[in-house]
Amino acid sequence: MTDCLFCKIIAGDIPSNNVYEDEQLYVFKDIDPKAQVHILVIPKIHIASLDDVTTEHQDLVATMMLKLPELARLQGLSDGFRTIINTGPGGGQEVGHLHMHILGGEDLPGFK
Ligand code: 5GP
Ligand code: ZN
Repeated sequence: MTDCLFCKIIAGDIPSNNVYEDEQLYVFKDIDPKAQVHILVIPKIHIASLDDVTTEHQDLVATMMLKLPELARLQGLSDGFRTIINTGPGGGQEVGHLHMHILGGEDLPGFK
């Protein structure tokens, strides 16, 4: 999908601060970090949002979830981390390519 910001980042057409990559996933630093550590985990295939995930994607989504603790540790978050998936306009999603936020560090605000 050529007009997708994150597909352009995966393709290297838009620069990003990549911290991990494999066959299925691309992980990079958020351009506007909301915590000391703030990275985005995205699938290399274009899926618009969690609302567009189907059973066809269940292995991929499981792979993403299972990778999160390792990615957090790679960022030095040995004490835990926060995961956020915003879905659709009502969920505050701004970029229409499925992404999981990993946040952590000493300045992580409370969430109530
Ligand atoms: P959303 O609100 O869709 O869940 O999160 C989108 C995230 O993407 C935001 O935290 C925003 O800062 C980040 N973002 C938007 N544009 C860019 C970009 O061009 N590069 C990077 N690295 N992050 C971006
Ligand atoms: Zn995309």
